[in-house]
Formats: sequence, structure tokens, C-alpha cells
Amino acid sequence: MEKPYTFNLLHLLFLYLLLPFLSNSIPPPAQADHSEIISRFQRYLQVNTSQPSPDYQKSTHFILSQADSLSLQSQLIEFVQGKPIVLLQWPGSDPSLPSILLNSHTDVVPSEYSKWVHPPFGAHIDEQGNIFARGSQDMKCVGMQYLEAIRRLRSSGFCPKRSLYLSFVPDEEIDSRDGAEMLASSYVFKNMNVDIVLDEGLASPNENYRVFYGERAPWWLVIKSNGAPGHGAKLYENSAMENLFKSIESIRRFRASQFDLVKAGLKAEGEVISVNMAVLKAGTPSPTGFVMNLQPSEAEAGFDIRIPPIGDLESLEKQIAEEWAPALRNMTFEFKAKVYCMMTWEGPL
Ligand SMILES: [Zn+2]
Repeated sequence: MEKPYTFNLLHLLFLYLLLPFLSNSIPPPAQADHSEIISRFQRYLQVNTSQPSPDYQKSTHFILSQADSLSLQSQLIEFVQGKPIVLLQWPGSDPSLPSILLNSHTDVVPSEYSKWVHPPFGAHIDEQGNIFARGSQDMKCVGMQYLEAIRRLRSSGFCPKRSLYLSFVPDEEIDSRDGAEMLASSYVFKNMNVDIVLDEGLASPNENYRVFYGERAPWWLVIKSNGAPGHGAKLYENSAMENLFKSIESIRRFRASQFDLVKAGLKAEGEVISVNMAVLKAGTPSPTGFVMNLQPSEAEAGFDIRIPPIGDLESLEKQIAEEWAPALRNMTFEFKAKVYCMMTWEGPL
């Protein structure tokens, strides 16, 4: 997920709020420990794991070195070559109990280097304590919080009853197919006997560690329109651009209706369907740019749609087929990703 790119170092320290969850007798860290924690976090941030060519070799090396320093068992799994999953284990005293899994992804979304005040993989800290780095929130901070919480618990002599696993998975930013999905459907995962998983949420702006139990499912929709090409000076029906405009306008209205519910305080951000246009492709290239006096015969737009677990999938599917990309208007559509939420929670949302 795309997130703002600064991360206040105080937030990293909220990992200690994890500790009471496991033990309430651990003293707060000394000042010297703070700088070591931040320095380890910076080293992780400095590994460029940006899609589309993440340096998984370096991130794997870093995580394994952390595991060694914590005496955790480690396993490197490559269901797909070049897409390493690092699985760490802290065995519990009672192996018959189901285990806990703490998951995080190692890849980050791309950055436009020239727009950054500080380089995205420099992990620069300013005078206010803000750390500038791509992935600082999404979600290397969480992976490090897990490791640092274990470090603290280890040094206090704590021993978990249940086995604790940490998985560092690749490719979450491009669909997870070769990462978490492969792991979740493997025998390795089955044998872990996992009872509870903590995964990605939102970085906290304060010292509370917030836990969510639902995630919006991404549908990445590409709609394409076709129409007769024509001179740029001519007005005629059903041009590809005109057809696409109608869809974009319809989608924009839907977006506004959902956003209005949030702005009015009637729904939380995670309870509405968000739609954001991410791609717009059209035009006939020329040596100097684009042909300006020709209406092209094809045009397309791509949307990142996020659907909450309570979203009405059937009516959205219908809306896409009938309003957003109707065949009647010479439109087609495809999904670059289409994830269905599995809602197994029985309690209230
Ligand atoms: Zn993420």
C-alpha cells in the first residue's frame, strides 16, 4: 500500500506496547538501546526493495543477520526462484499449542526520486526525529517492531509457551502470488499450526498499537474503449475517448458518493469502497509527442478499487459490466488483480 513517507522514530518505540501483551514485567529500554533500535531500522530501510526490482538478496541477508543475533531458528524458502520468504521461529515451551505468526512484507512501492527531499533509501533523520525512507511505514517498521520486541523479551529471560513465527514475504506490492499466497497454501504453513496472525495494518500516529481484523480487498480494474477514429475537428458519436469519458464520469460520481459518506462521518474509511484512477492511456504518438488533430480509436483507464469485507460484490460487478464498461458502448474490461475477502470473523464489525 502507498503510505506517506516519513516515520517518526518515537513510533518505532511503541513496539514496547506489544510487550505487556506478552509480559508486564519488562522495564522500558535504556537511551543507548533507543539509538541501536533506530540504527537497525535505518539499515533495513536502506535496502532498496522497491518494486519492480527489489533487492531481496540484501533484505534476506539483513533479516537473517537479525535472526542470528536473536538466536532464532531460520528457514529460507523459495517457492519461486528469486522470491525468498524468510521464516523465523522462536520455539515455545509447549509445542502442542497452536502458534502465533507475525507477518510482514519486504518489498516497497516505487518512488519518484526527484520529488523526494531526502533520498528514499537514505533513511535520513531530521532534527524533529522524522525518518525519511520509502517503506518506513509500509511496512518495514512493523517487521522491525516484531524483531525488537523479541530482542527485548529475550533479554528479559521471557520464554513463550506457544511457538512464535515471523514471516518476511516478497511481492506484496504486486499481488503476493509468489509470496504470502504460496506460503499460505503450503505444507510448511500447515505444519506451523498457526492460530493467530498479525499482519499489515496502519502505522500508528501515536503510541497505541492498533489491531484491525479486516482488510479491504484490491480489485485492479482496466477498462478499454473502442471507437471509430476521426478528425480532431469533427463531432461524432461513439468515439473511443467519448465512451471512456462517460465511464470515467460514472466512476467519479461513485467515488464521490463513497467519499461523501466518510466526510460526513457516516462511515469509516475502511467501510466504503474506494476507487482511484491510476492509469490513463490514449493518443496517437507522433515524433514530437502526440497527434493533436486525430481522435484515437482506442483508449483505456485503470483503477485501484478497494472493497471492504462488508462490500456488496455482486452489485459492484453489475455496475462495472453495465455502467463502467458496458459492451453497448464498445467497452471491455479486465482485472489485473481481483482478491476476494474471506470474512471468517463472527463478531460485529
Ligand atoms: Zn504494505
